[in-house]
Amino acid sequence: MPKLVRYTTSPDCPSTAPDHNSAVLQGDFENLPKNARLLPPCSPTKIVCVGRNYAEHAKELGNEVPSEPLIFLKPPSSLIAHSESIVYPAISQNVHFEGELGVVIGRQAKHVRREEPMDYVKGYTCLNDVTARDIQRKDVQFTRGKGFDTFCAVGPWLVPKEEVELSGLRVITRVDGEVKQDAPLTDMIFPVDVIIAFVTACMTLEPGDLIATGTPPGVGPMLPGQTVEVEIPGIGLLRNPVIRG
Ligand code: MG
Repeated sequence: MPKLVRYTTSPDCPSTAPDHNSAVLQGDFENLPKNARLLPPCSPTKIVCVGRNYAEHAKELGNEVPSEPLIFLKPPSSLIAHSESIVYPAISQNVHFEGELGVVIGRQAKHVRREEPMDYVKGYTCLNDVTARDIQRKDVQFTRGKGFDTFCAVGPWLVPKEEVELSGLRVITRVDGEVKQDAPLTDMIFPVDVIIAFVTACMTLEPGDLIATGTPPGVGPMLPGQTVEVEIPGIGLLRNPVIRG
């Protein structure tokens, strides 16, 4: 199975570096040079997230199950790669993990019809939609609560869509090895093709753009000193430590 990575051998290259940065290299995880450091497997112009896409998760936060996808954005400045640290902001007391399937767009998508959305998908990855729950609730708008630097962990790699049958897969989140979330991707209220058609009726998706497809029930706090894993067996395992900001 190809494991497509972006990486760098430059100690100065930030994890948010776009593809046109000369320090950004591309390859397969199995053939990396020894001094390679993984970068996020895509360089999105925007990260489109779906909220409340699992019925049991909507209920656990006291929300109604939506009748159409509820979308919001995370800024590309929130991206980190596999093994990089999630920084716990000093202004929050309630930072949560949200394990999710990440979808990477392969070609420009605009007003995509319901029959063809998967033509625009490049592949899949693991994603942690880190959330300052107290700030999200206080602001109502999600921008601050979801938008801190390091709040979008993604990777370790991208698996091409041709290699993956999503219907048999689960998303599992662990904190210090303890399972907190474990649900089949088929529990999504709105599947990937419906999300792409819905999003592109509003905004153009560019190659490398990233969709966070929503989190299953079991969200909860993670603390500085802990390590969070988001695993989708058949795709990969994303692991990030949490440190105090
Ligand atoms: Mg989420």
